[in-house]
Amino acid sequence: MTSGNTIEPQDRWFSVVEMEVNARCNRRCGYCPVSVLPTQKGDRFMSEALFDRILDELERIDFRGNLSYHLFNEPLLRRDLETLVAKVAARLPDVFQILFTNGDLLSDKRYASLKNDGIDHFVVTRHSFEPMPERPEQTVQFPSDLILVNRGGLLGALGETLTMPCYAPTDMLILTVDGDVLLCCDDAERGHVMGNIAVQDLEEIWFSPRFVSLRRLLQEGNRREASDICRRCNNREYFGPGENDHKHLVKMARARQGD
Ligand code: SF4
Ligand code: SF4
Repeated sequence: MTSGNTIEPQDRWFSVVEMEVNARCNRRCGYCPVSVLPTQKGDRFMSEALFDRILDELERIDFRGNLSYHLFNEPLLRRDLETLVAKVAARLPDVFQILFTNGDLLSDKRYASLKNDGIDHFVVTRHSFEPMPERPEQTVQFPSDLILVNRGGLLGALGETLTMPCYAPTDMLILTVDGDVLLCCDDAERGHVMGNIAVQDLEEIWFSPRFVSLRRLLQEGNRREASDICRRCNNREYFGPGENDHKHLVKMARARQGD
């Protein structure tokens, strides 16, 4: 049931999937949790078995939204990213694949192979303002274009808890390299795990009483009761269903492709 702007938390699936296909970034931007969290020794990759299991689950629920390959990692560090992208294109042909990257490793060759294998749009954030070559399916942004947030209080204190609604956990399925489902993409410390897709069905995780109740509290703007990170969070991006910084960009990219 939907009333006004509120979506009953048990009534619908997410429209965005973000998967941490590897666990490291090659940069340490000062406004990113990577700069304050312990340095990773080497990279860790999501296993192919786990990746396939996620696709099984997304296929089973007929997922047709947007899918990306990041949390606080640089996906292009995976040299086999093309294989993953091609699998998604083959199994979930209606999914819109967006690659968020810092662009350091996005050569013309990789742009072409990833596009050929199924990436629909590239969003490149140039954290040191280096230029990128112009490409048809690429949006380039710079630090001055970003709306910086404190990542659930990790990167800065908040005076008073916000009371505006947050639909991040209504709209987005956030998966870590180990298959944990996080409350939110701002949970950089991974303290709010809703379940694990390697051992649980999506329904069991997504519609669990705990997750449903958190979504309800956040839709009501009750960040104080929802969780410690929500209490300290200054993110205003997800104020309504389907709202986020990239909404217009994705809409434009989809329109260009005639979706
Ligand atoms: S490139 Fe992105 S993920 Fe990497 S440190 Fe910078 S903001 Fe974080
Ligand atoms: S209030 Fe902040 S931390 Fe909580 S779910 Fe929303 S964006 Fe994430």
